[in-house]
Amino acid sequence: MAKRDYYEVLGVAKTATADEIKKAYRKKAIQYHPDRNPGDKEAEEKFKEAAEAYEVLSNPDKRSRYDQFGFAGVDGAAGGGSGFGGFGGQGMSMDDIFSMFGDIFGGHGGFGGFSSGFGGGGQSRQRKFRGSDLRVKVKLNLKEISTGVEKKFKLKKYVECSHCHGTGAEGDGGTETCPTCHGTGSVTRTQQSIFGMMQTQSVCPQCGGEGKIIKNKCKECAGEGIVYGEEVVTVKIPAGVAEGMQVTINGKGNAGKHNGVPGDLLVLIEEEKHPELIRDESDLIYNLLLSVPTAALGGTVEIPTIDGKAKIKIEPGTQPGKVLRLRGKGLPNINSYGYNTGTGDLLVNISVYIPETLTKEERQALEKWQEAENFKPNTSLKEKIFKKFRSLFD
Ligand SMILES: [Zn+2]
Ligand SMILES: [Zn+2]
Repeated sequence: MAKRDYYEVLGVAKTATADEIKKAYRKKAIQYHPDRNPGDKEAEEKFKEAAEAYEVLSNPDKRSRYDQFGFAGVDGAAGGGSGFGGFGGQGMSMDDIFSMFGDIFGGHGGFGGFSSGFGGGGQSRQRKFRGSDLRVKVKLNLKEISTGVEKKFKLKKYVECSHCHGTGAEGDGGTETCPTCHGTGSVTRTQQSIFGMMQTQSVCPQCGGEGKIIKNKCKECAGEGIVYGEEVVTVKIPAGVAEGMQVTINGKGNAGKHNGVPGDLLVLIEEEKHPELIRDESDLIYNLLLSVPTAALGGTVEIPTIDGKAKIKIEPGTQPGKVLRLRGKGLPNINSYGYNTGTGDLLVNISVYIPETLTKEERQALEKWQEAENFKPNTSLKEKIFKKFRSLFD
């Protein structure tokens, strides 16, 4: 087939401006677009021809060489065609055209619903299978939560078939372009409606949108491209997670059929209860039971922390209900994006242990103090304690 002059292909004058050339190409591209002309080989050729003409005429350098030397000026074989070699009308696939000129279709609302199907900035429009997501649970203790942790999972899941490398086809040439949609992955139907002729696009029923079908199915996977297998996945769990949170590991779910997109691995967090510490978001709470003498005399006591133990000082005359705050001894706080936004505190809630039974000696000692003025709850302290008590209910 003799090549037609590029200006003639686009139907513009030799003096056309860049804008006129762009407009003319867009018109041709829409007219001959494969979605509008499913299965029409001539339209496909015209579509490619227009793309080739536009590739040259939209580039000032190539256009001037074409004006001077004709096809020889831009043909790869003539040595002048930087980045143009192999384009000679047949070397370029539809996908190449979309990726080179996809932007020309984007951003124009000009042709309504039709544009949505192919305005994706040159993305391939064929569908890919997506593997399903996998879910696993992991139980973490507070120490692991405080530092973040790496966990290994041995997952039973669909993995790529090693025999066909995921294609699902046996040997070379095991796949062919789908004859129903000619590789586009979609079929267009034109129907008469009350609004006039309507075009509806749908997924190709033969290939399921992939644009290709398998001629010789792989023996190992029966043409699926995936087999049931096993994979060991190491998952990094950030510090500060909590019961019920889900950590998503992209692409570690089941493999997708025919080299499709793998699903995600969703790790559900379960929290092991600490035997002594209670978690309140990023704070930890410890209920400290003091003996009556220690509360009255003061002293040093040991309390549990996430890392082990810590010693704290008790002032003489410490009242039950008092809360000591150990700053930064809680858990890391993370926001919904998983970023650390600080560390919580360890709150030590003071209780006083009263013996449930007394020896004769103890009873006598306490009875001695029962009537002493200093052992009667004093009025000002009573008020202070009540205030604090009331504030709990505000
Ligand atoms: Zn296979
Ligand atoms: Zn098809």
